Amino acid sequence: MTILDGKKTSLDIQKELEVKVKELTKSGANPPHLAAVLVGDNGASRTYVNAKVKACQRVGFKSSLYQLNINTTQKELLSLVHKLNNDDSVDGFIVQLPLPKHIDKNQITLAINPAKDVDGFHPENVGKMSLGLPSFLPATPNGIMEIIRRYNIETEGKNVVVIGRSNIVGTPVSILMSRKSNPGNATVTLAHSRTKNLKDICLNADILIVAIGIPEFISSDMVKSNAVVIDVGIHRIEDSSKKSGFKLLGDVKFDEVSKKCSFITPVPGGVGPMTIASLLMNTYLASYGNK
Ligand code: NAD
Repeated sequence: MTILDGKKTSLDIQKELEVKVKELTKSGANPPHLAAVLVGDNGASRTYVNAKVKACQRVGFKSSLYQLNINTTQKELLSLVHKLNNDDSVDGFIVQLPLPKHIDKNQITLAINPAKDVDGFHPENVGKMSLGLPSFLPATPNGIMEIIRRYNIETEGKNVVVIGRSNIVGTPVSILMSRKSNPGNATVTLAHSRTKNLKDICLNADILIVAIGIPEFISSDMVKSNAVVIDVGIHRIEDSSKKSGFKLLGDVKFDEVSKKCSFITPVPGGVGPMTIASLLMNTYLASYGNK
């Protein structure tokens, strides 16, 4: 069994970007600039946004963090989105999800200029992705494709089972896996909460991508021998023995599944860091892609 080391792979990508940015800035170009908007004080969201900002600093990007109060109105958030859309010094920006309940996330996503939508959530980017046209690919699915590519895992003709149909993970990764590309060209089954016989479907998976949001849902009896397992889930579970007061678990029972599969992403250190690398790749593209 091989661990798909997302932390190392993400750092490799960051080093590659750092070199490219150094070369470009040497010749007088501005570094890519990512802005991140965080509304409210969700601990996990704050951790993710801080990790994104730190990664920007590591590779020589400029970053700006907008921390807004939980009581920020829809109108105020939209006005910040418009400001960032019109700010030529910002190449790309993200509005960290989830947003407080009183804010309509679809309206915010629709308001983002697709050319600055480095999260790849705007319908224009989603549509282009579906058509196989160049676009910003959503960070987590693209990170999954990138780690599969870098570990030379064959996907062509394989049975890929994706569990979870969210717009940010399950649905886009199912599209990317079925596209005519490498990695891709797989036969994809998209399973969700209404799926019947999930265990049988999982047992047919050469590659199992789990984005279900239930801690340790997948046990070894649901995984085919030598399958590739990608665990997208992240859960903070209270643990008083840890300094932080919590431990992180995925959607997969790592200890038992790792004994049966050929490759697996750990939690933490798997898909999470790849999501960050992917966001940086998109920001680089937003900055220099068309220059
Ligand atoms: P979500 O809650 O939006 O979607 C979960 C999906 O799982 C739904 O489509 C639902 O139909 C399906 N589902 C629920 N119960 C099921 C069941 N019993 N059987 C089959 N399918 C079932 O989740 P999401 O936003 O896609 O996130 C999934 C997980 O991935 C969460 O733990 C989240 O924290 C994590 N996540 C991690 C990253 C990362 O960078 N590593 C990024 C995004 C999300």
